[in-house]
Amino acid sequence: MCAIEAGQRGRRVAVLERADRLGKKILISGGGRCNFTNIHCQPENFLSGNPHFAKSALARYTPADFIALVEKHKIPYHEKTLGQLFCDHSARDILGMLEAECRAAGVSVFLNVEIQEVTRTTEFVVRAANAEFRSPALVIATGGLSIPKIGATAFGYDLARQFGLKIRDPWPGLVPLVLESEDRSHYCDLAGVSAEVIASCDGQQFREKMLITHRGLSGPAILQISSYWRKPQSIGIDLAPGSEVTADFRDPKTPRNSSALRSQLRHRLPSRLADRWLELHPPASWTNAALADFERQVHAWTITPAGTEGYEKAEVTAGGVDTGELSPQTMESRKIPGLFFIGEVVDVTGHLGGFNFQWAWASGAAAGRVL
Ligand SMILES: Cc1cc2nc3c(=O)[nH]c(=O)nc-3n(C[C@H](O)[C@H](O)[C@H](O)COP(=O)(O)OP(=O)(O)OC[C@H]3O[C@@H](n4cnc5c(N)ncnc54)[C@H](O)[C@@H]3O)c2cc1C
Repeated sequence: MCAIEAGQRGRRVAVLERADRLGKKILISGGGRCNFTNIHCQPENFLSGNPHFAKSALARYTPADFIALVEKHKIPYHEKTLGQLFCDHSARDILGMLEAECRAAGVSVFLNVEIQEVTRTTEFVVRAANAEFRSPALVIATGGLSIPKIGATAFGYDLARQFGLKIRDPWPGLVPLVLESEDRSHYCDLAGVSAEVIASCDGQQFREKMLITHRGLSGPAILQISSYWRKPQSIGIDLAPGSEVTADFRDPKTPRNSSALRSQLRHRLPSRLADRWLELHPPASWTNAALADFERQVHAWTITPAGTEGYEKAEVTAGGVDTGELSPQTMESRKIPGLFFIGEVVDVTGHLGGFNFQWAWASGAAAGRVL
């Protein structure tokens, strides 16, 4: 996006990519259909050491701008849920569109360029194994640490440090959580069971699906909250959002026994999870107080995860180049004129749902318009 904007303004642009093709993450994104933006994108959908930092770039390159590009290329798309836009066919459509725009803007793309060294004299000198590039401006768009097997590296962070820029220590975000062994033995044989919950941590909450896995918990609600979770915090899970499982017991005609309670719980949760919950957390008695306590527990399951599935499974890397080092208007380093950081390498991390791409497009456009 940055290259396209700069190329359109007549700049001579070279994209240096260490992989054998561009945009590998685009291809695997959104289950192969690329959730390329979110129509409800707001600054509140991002985590950052400075929550105001992303506002300017997001306001100047909006989801509507990206949608206009998608429509110009006649790429069919649809809204899946919660404002998330996906390709009807394939993520290849988005990559093809960006490559076509690069070609039209006269951008040169160099693949298989493994950068070994960057120095700065009067200009930036970028040395690869078999080539050398010189330029008055250098934009780092090397992403985060997620999914090392498709080539993620710490290059961007290392380069920022080399030039004396501060890094907010990265951590895996949008990542499944691993349970402690006792919780695992209680729940993980239910792998595959999912339920709508409210997951909360660190003052944030998300009402979406939770999925039990062989090692812990996943699904959108858990992925979202994982970005806010840091060991050894605990996570709260409301297993029956917005409903009162024991409400019927206020009627004196309703029998107070396990099968009546099981049937109430099964209305709110998949039966296997409802039955397991009752086995592990039976009400202490059938008094009003005990039922109120049972109710409270259903809405406040507290778990302390052992950890996350790490960068191998994380959809994004939180943390990164400290926003205090960069201009929010242009993404240019305040200390090193001509050096820019855009996309995931910056300490701006989106929620699940197309926000990380929107940040990549918006921050890329912000830099591309001033190069
Ligand atoms: C499985 C998965 C699914 C996802 N799905 C979605 C989704 O549907 N919607 C969404 O909004 N976000 C999604 N994301 C997140 C999104 O893909 C990223 O946030 C986004 O790609 C970040 O863009 P970027 O340009 O900053 O970095 P990247 O897309 O990671 O691109 C960085 C590029 O830099 C190259 N590179 C790295 N080091 C060097 C070096 N030393 N020299 C030269 N080149 C280098 C890499 O090869 C790579 O091509 C997903 C992520 C994953 C892992």
